Parts: sequence; C-alpha cells; structure tokens
Amino acid sequence: MARYKIKSVANGKYVSIYNLTAGGILYENKNVVCKTATSLGKDQIWDINLSSPSSTFVRSAYWPFFGLNAYRSSDTEYNCDVYEIVGNETDATTEFIPTSQGYYQIRLKNYPTKYLTASGSSSVVWLGATGGNDQLWSLEEVFDNPTTAACHVISHKGYGNALNVYTSSGISDGTLATLWDWDNVNDQRWYFDQISGREYVIKSAMNQTYHVGYSTSASGGTEYGYYRAMMRSDASNSYKVTLESYGDNIYRIMCNIGGSPRYLTAESAIGTNSTPTHLVWYPYRSNADQLWKLVTGTSYTYSHSCVDGYDGVWPTTENIGMTDGFQALWRPAHGGIDVPERIAGAQPIYSMFIGTVIASSYTDQLGYYVEIQSAFDNKICRYQHMLAGSVAVSVGDEVMAGQQVGTVGRSGDSTGEHLHFEIMMPSTRTKIDPVFNVF
Ligand SMILES: [Zn+2]
Repeated sequence: MARYKIKSVANGKYVSIYNLTAGGILYENKNVVCKTATSLGKDQIWDINLSSPSSTFVRSAYWPFFGLNAYRSSDTEYNCDVYEIVGNETDATTEFIPTSQGYYQIRLKNYPTKYLTASGSSSVVWLGATGGNDQLWSLEEVFDNPTTAACHVISHKGYGNALNVYTSSGISDGTLATLWDWDNVNDQRWYFDQISGREYVIKSAMNQTYHVGYSTSASGGTEYGYYRAMMRSDASNSYKVTLESYGDNIYRIMCNIGGSPRYLTAESAIGTNSTPTHLVWYPYRSNADQLWKLVTGTSYTYSHSCVDGYDGVWPTTENIGMTDGFQALWRPAHGGIDVPERIAGAQPIYSMFIGTVIASSYTDQLGYYVEIQSAFDNKICRYQHMLAGSVAVSVGDEVMAGQQVGTVGRSGDSTGEHLHFEIMMPSTRTKIDPVFNVF
C-alpha cells in the first residue's frame, strides 16, 4: 500500500474529494462529488495497493471511510459522475490497467465497462468508453520533502510533544544521548540533510554534532534498540533515516536495521507526567504512535484540528494532550485514548460526531458510559468513566457534534479522573485509532 495523487493526463488535475472541503454533513452511501483539482490537499491523497493492480480498493488517505466508487443510481447501475462514501469495499474495488506510456486506466472491478474519466475541465466521471486521454491517469506517490535549509520542530502527532535531545547528563564525542519527547525550547530544533531520495540525516540545530541514530543495548539477555542522538563529529550516512510521508507535513521516521524497518515511536505520552518519556525504535505498528509532524521554524503549538465536513471534534477541552494513546507500546491492549482531567469535577465531554445515542449505562469496568453511533459513517464512539450523575443523554437521543454528553470522572475501573474514549467500526466493533483516523 502506498499513497498517491491520481493525476489526469487530459487536464493535469488531481482526483479529489470535493464536498469535504466545502463542508457539510456527509453520510455513508451518499455521493460526494469527485473533482479534479490543481492544488494538493488532504482530499487528493489515496491509498492504493499497486502490488495488486487488478483488484485494489482506493481509499482516501485521510478519511479512510471514503472509497473511490461510482455512485449508484440503482443497485446495478454505475453510471453517474460521482463517487461515494462506502462501507462495502467489494463495490468499490477497482482495477488499474497499466499502459505502455506508464499511465493507468482505472475501472470498476465489478463493472469493467466503467472507466474513471476526466470530463471537461473539472469533473471526474465513470464512463463506459475504452479509449482516449480522458481515461489515462498518472500516479504520483506522495512525498513532501522537508525543506533542508530550514530547521524544524518534530512533534508527535498524537501527543504533541516535541522530539529533543536530553542532555542534562552531558555527552561527549562518540557517546550517546537519549531522545525524549519533552518540550525544551533550546534543543528541539532539527535540520534535515538529504542524502538521496527520502533518506536524510537529522541533526540537532542546537549542536550540529548531535545526530539522530540507532543503537542497541542488552539487558537481561535481550537486546533493545533505541532511537538516540550521538555527538559525533564524523557523522556519516550510517545515521540516515527514511521519511515516509502522509502529507500535511506528517511523517513516519524509519531506520532500516538488517532489512527490518524500525520506526521512531513515542513509547507513551507525556500528559501530566513531570518527567520526560523516552522514544524508541520499534517494529512497525500501524497506529498513531509513529506519526510525527515536521513544522518549519522554532516552535509548534499543539492543537487538534477537525476535518472539514466530518464535524469531528476533540471530545473534551482542547489542547491538553493525551496520557495514553491507542495501543500505546507499553499498553498494547489499550483500545482507546486517555485524556486527563484538568478542570476538577467539571471537565466537559463532547460528542465527537453527530449521531444517535445507542447506549447509556454503567458497568464495573466502564463506569458510567455513553455510546453514540455516528450519523456520518455508523462508527461507534464510546466515552467511559464519566462522573456519576453527569450523563446528559439517553438512548435514542440525537446529538450534535460538540454537544456535551457528560463530565469527566473516574467511575468504573479507573485509577484517576480521565476520559477514555474509543472509536469502533460498525457491527464488528473493531477498535480503531482516533488520532490516526480522525484528528
Ligand atoms: Zn484508557
């Protein structure tokens, strides 16, 4: 799976989701106009499995519940000039047919007479024709190079804490310093020296002899790998890392060790801790622990932004960060996100989405909790450990995004006041990472 822009050979524009940028509330199996656009945005990046070009599901990278599909005017007709939000990947499975010029024709697997086609100057349609430039697409793999001349702050996408060199113990040439995700204005700025392609050496702006690299240590017969900085005047390509872009200046930072990828990962969040938390290289885990935002400049203010049109809101007071993320490395069974209480006894819990209350109850484990099924895509959001007596909604209630549904508490199996919230897929109730998928 890789991320691509899909560019029309006929008019040079990119396939994009149109209605999202225009705002509005969208529902599963409703159509979203598919436009070609000239500028690159989140709505133009797609996950495509080109290792299986004859049968892949083209999914929006940022709103993965959007699949590229033709709008059905009936159950059997795929003839309209839009695609739709889908919960059914079979309907939206596509086939990429490479041409001798290096382009692709894209057609619906189950309706092979329907080709994705650029129509006029701005529209994208599924048509039945079999030839012409208007059916040819080039794929551009998404990779935004960090500006190598500028220094950057590397902030964790979920926790918001900045990568820095922990130097209080001091290091000397040839020795290692630990990297922490602790904000420090002096030592959290980095330069990226491009080696080739996506490979970079990351060096500290505070002291350019600090370089990010990989080292191992043994403890109890087990070898552990850590992401560290080394003060090394002869830094070389051996310190190179590979950046994988998710667009919007969000990357995974990878070191290849013996053919195995190791990703820079936040071991856990800072939240309310007073001591820094260190960072580790860890084998691939598909969650937000690995996502980093590179921001040019000298400071970065942690904030969550909502997706236009999705009406998703951070479910409590903003800008207070998380304590434990989804399946945090040290808590892999943790199926949600924890947010600490900062307003004692009065911190609101907001519904993330417009939807319907499907559960409002109490268990010894969850405490007082509420489940709300999104009207947008039927996903289920659950808010746990609410303050006794604070639950403000009942089963069957329709709630708006941002509507208060309760107050942060510690009811049920909880060691302190916090909000634990989860997002689950419809019907299967498979838990997904809210930070990766929504914020
Ligand atoms: Zn939790």
